[in-house]
Amino acid sequence: MLCPHNCILKEEQKGICKTRENHKGTLCTLAWNNPCSICLDPIEKKPLNHFLPGTKTLSIAIAGCNMRCLNCQNYNISQKSPKETANYNYTPAAIIELAKKYKTPSISFTYTEPTVYYEYMLATAKLAHQNNIKTVIVSNGYINKKPLQELCNYIDAANIDLKCFDPALHLKLTGAKLQPVLDSLLLLKRGKIWLEITHLMIPQYSNNLQTFEKMCQWLVKKGFDSTPLHINRFFPQNELVHLPATPLTTIGEAGQIATQAGIKHVYLGNI
Ligand code: SF4
Repeated sequence: MLCPHNCILKEEQKGICKTRENHKGTLCTLAWNNPCSICLDPIEKKPLNHFLPGTKTLSIAIAGCNMRCLNCQNYNISQKSPKETANYNYTPAAIIELAKKYKTPSISFTYTEPTVYYEYMLATAKLAHQNNIKTVIVSNGYINKKPLQELCNYIDAANIDLKCFDPALHLKLTGAKLQPVLDSLLLLKRGKIWLEITHLMIPQYSNNLQTFEKMCQWLVKKGFDSTPLHINRFFPQNELVHLPATPLTTIGEAGQIATQAGIKHVYLGNI
């Protein structure tokens, strides 16, 4: 009941995320104590510009994702099962010790999709709060309401990727529906989690300025006018290497549209 895909699995079959498996009739997670990436990043790289600015965050990921973004730059870990990646062995307690060692005021669940290693993230986040360390998710927002509500008790900040405001193109680009992502934004807002939103302008998918304007109007109407919006330039990668980079003029126009729609903190990224 974790993810809106609601996969139904035959014996020994894995879900779309590649981290959950039907093992002789029991649904098991393959994501526990086995992060494939651990890094120290500036918090602005998440990107979060209004949360603990100027600090480093301990960034971790376990392999897997519940989206299939054609543009994914981390596809070599996001589109793999934890069984297929080279992993470290870190319990949640060991992650906390690492954060203390490097004196990072926060831990970020990032790079892949933290929803697919939910149990490990939740256990680590609970321990982090017991140790006065803040927690951050960098997520596609594709998660069911109940697990997100539970997570809100232990998460301080989120950057959610609102990839495309056209439902059909969102499905084509990511393999997932748009509405659950919008529901997650609203839930995080109600849960008073510090929120910033990222939108990547991909030619032919998410750089239509009329659709972008509709997205900004929806955000303002739903009370996200003070939520920082990061509008990022796309560069060709993964399955979209045939597309050009987003024209700089499009990024500039999008910035103006967002500001005119009433969004107060607009950032242009990758430029
Ligand atoms: S949601 Fe993020 S990690 Fe997952 S496929 Fe899309 S870009 Fe990659």
